[in-house]
Amino acid sequence: MRLPQTGGCHCGRLRYEITQAPHMIYTCHCTDCQHFTSSAFSIAMLVDAQAFHLTGVEPRAMLHTADSGRNLTRWVCPECGSWICNGAKPGSVNPNAFRAVRGTLDDTSWLRPTAHFWTRSKHPWVVLPDERSYVFETQPDDIFAFFNSVVAKARGAIA
Ligand SMILES: [Zn+2]
Ligand SMILES: [Zn+2]
Repeated sequence: MRLPQTGGCHCGRLRYEITQAPHMIYTCHCTDCQHFTSSAFSIAMLVDAQAFHLTGVEPRAMLHTADSGRNLTRWVCPECGSWICNGAKPGSVNPNAFRAVRGTLDDTSWLRPTAHFWTRSKHPWVVLPDERSYVFETQPDDIFAFFNSVVAKARGAIA
């Protein structure tokens, strides 16, 4: 995998670059992701917020309250509706934050998810890989603590 990796929305008006290998790649099989993507699951890459650089048109915020009561913001292309990322407004996050970038890279051939969330609503025909991975029937109570522990582990392996 070469850096930077580039990606963007379907119509091409919104583009981005990732300047760091993702800490983790995960799938989400929750019913929100299934509806929002009109597919079986969504894919996301966890990167440091400062390693994600958006260019082109301003993304549009789609606000949603999950069943858990959590407020979610999805950032989409205002023209074609492609889902680009979640969280605080791109460019406005604190430097220690992570960004979950959705699976919209130009080259997705190297993506290998190692965590799978909300498998209780997974389509029955989706078979998860045998490789060692994190599998959650729902999601960790504190997903940010989980992300932090994965990142700390990844950094420890490099150091
Ligand atoms: Zn677009
Ligand atoms: Zn989901």
